[in-house]
Amino acid sequence: MRQFIYILFLWSSISLACEPNETHVREQWIKPYTRSDGTKVLGHIRSEHCRVISVHNYFQDTGSEIKGFKGKFKAWTQSEKALVQSKLDELPSWLKKYKIASILRASSHPGNPKNPALTIPASKTIILFDVFFKSSKVKDVLLHELAHIAIWDLDPVQLHQFFISNGWTYQKGNRPTPPTKVILPDSAHSPSEDFANTLEVYYSNPKLLKEFNLKSFSILEEIIKSKDNR
Ligand SMILES: [Zn+2]
Repeated sequence: MRQFIYILFLWSSISLACEPNETHVREQWIKPYTRSDGTKVLGHIRSEHCRVISVHNYFQDTGSEIKGFKGKFKAWTQSEKALVQSKLDELPSWLKKYKIASILRASSHPGNPKNPALTIPASKTIILFDVFFKSSKVKDVLLHELAHIAIWDLDPVQLHQFFISNGWTYQKGNRPTPPTKVILPDSAHSPSEDFANTLEVYYSNPKLLKEFNLKSFSILEEIIKSKDNR
């Protein structure tokens, strides 16, 4: 199964098969330390595992360094928090099952200033930028970001059907080739981007998606039905 996902996305082979209310913690080296009762604990490797998210949608003003993100975090305003929370509450129930561990705020995405949001699926972290708060489609953006998290929990066979239907071609040893016609321009970037975009359109403009690709619309409907009943 993991291998299948690896071929599908050509992402790293770490398993992200945690529950919707858990985050994935990578294998890490734990330095030797002394417990409060005096017991000495030797240095050891803690294997990768899933950790339950204790506080959901935690708005944080500062965050630890995130690999690949060079921007600086800043403090939330009350109205920003209220807006994001109210839009998250409006999302479809199956997507709301994917709890966000940490919601961070930064001015812009260095190198990609038009990007309204950035999601790190493994740690269930979302970073929202100034552009997000100027957008008229904040709910769509949040739905899109949640789709990047939910995709890891979907049935690989259903997902594969979806990507084939959307026109992706897979050849062993090569990156997946994007379809010639895509629903939104950056869909061609990766299967994950295409999935998040198509799900966004499924909710915001179902008529458009039905006209664009009725089969993909039906597969999404099936995927959602199977998640709603879980
Ligand atoms: Zn995206």
